[in-house]
Amino acid sequence: MSIPFEVEATNRSARLGRLSTPHGVVETPVFMPVGTVASVKGVSQDILEELGVQILLGNTYHLFLRPGVEQVRQLGGLHRFMAWPRAILTDSGGFQVFSLNELRQVSEEGVKFRSHLDGSSHLFTPESAMEAQIGLGADIIMAFDECTEHPADRERVRQSMELTLRWAERSKKHFEAHKHEVPWSKNAKRSGAIQTDQTQALFGIVQGGMDAAQRKESAERTIEIGFPGYAIGGLSVGEPRAVTREVVEATVQHLPADKPRYLMGVGTPEEIVEYAGLGIDMMDCVLPTRAARHGLLFTSEGRVSIKQARYASDQSPLDANCGCRVCQRYSRAYLRHLYAANEVLAQVLNTVHNLSFYLDTMRAVRHSIALGNRS
Ligand SMILES: [Zn+2]
Repeated sequence: MSIPFEVEATNRSARLGRLSTPHGVVETPVFMPVGTVASVKGVSQDILEELGVQILLGNTYHLFLRPGVEQVRQLGGLHRFMAWPRAILTDSGGFQVFSLNELRQVSEEGVKFRSHLDGSSHLFTPESAMEAQIGLGADIIMAFDECTEHPADRERVRQSMELTLRWAERSKKHFEAHKHEVPWSKNAKRSGAIQTDQTQALFGIVQGGMDAAQRKESAERTIEIGFPGYAIGGLSVGEPRAVTREVVEATVQHLPADKPRYLMGVGTPEEIVEYAGLGIDMMDCVLPTRAARHGLLFTSEGRVSIKQARYASDQSPLDANCGCRVCQRYSRAYLRHLYAANEVLAQVLNTVHNLSFYLDTMRAVRHSIALGNRS
């Protein structure tokens, strides 16, 4: 279950790498836009390609509820269903059900939860989360974990970490037994567009709360189980940003240098640069897309809240240093008007710019790692 990953250059802790998935190469450090229900809200796949998106994230919880895993599997898997030929990563659903709070119940077996759509009852186990992710057919899938709440005392963090470790073993065992059932596999009964000997890659997730010693132990024991990549989970759960950084730093040093490292669910443009500097290879966050829908735009000169009246007559582009199709064509005044008029186009254009800004930021990070290595 290997996924070829080469570190091409390093600059202090930062790494420039190439991750070769069954659906194309991903240059790292990479920012992965979130396409919750097989759609990056408001942006069509051809524009995502034009922006240079190499890998998208899909949410298993949402796709499991709607349109359903079996439906997607019958349609050839997520790539074919959403007409996205490049790489996809799905989360295990663990974090999503964690966010449901009162609607969930955790046991050794798994997590019982109620759908936020219709209140129907479901059970996610490590086995069923693997089955769902194999059926969806992303290139990279995640072990089923418990995202420890914050704050949590030491004993609670330990119990939760131990549960995640047991679930990681069960996830791997089920994945190894069923990995050839992926819709695009050569061995799959149903024929898809792409047929390959490659399988999906299952990543393990390090938990351990905000405690450096437990993070270290979680990392070491997850590595013992053995995965082709490792994620740092359980962050962005309400802790201060300085703590997030400390935990990332305390965890990343225990992860193997030759495997991709994925920091789940972060951050602002400044933060993703910082985490890449700490040696993180992959990141995802709803921030650029969600903020865009609320009129909050990231630019080379700081944040712009486009809803403000001060932009009503501003004929300049949103970001004079941005080469995206939005900044090349439209004025701040027009974007402000679209937002005020609640036009769908406001969401589309704002999202395209914010994603472009994030992707450009990562491109610049990769460039600087490459240059730093030569000098
Ligand atoms: Zn732009």
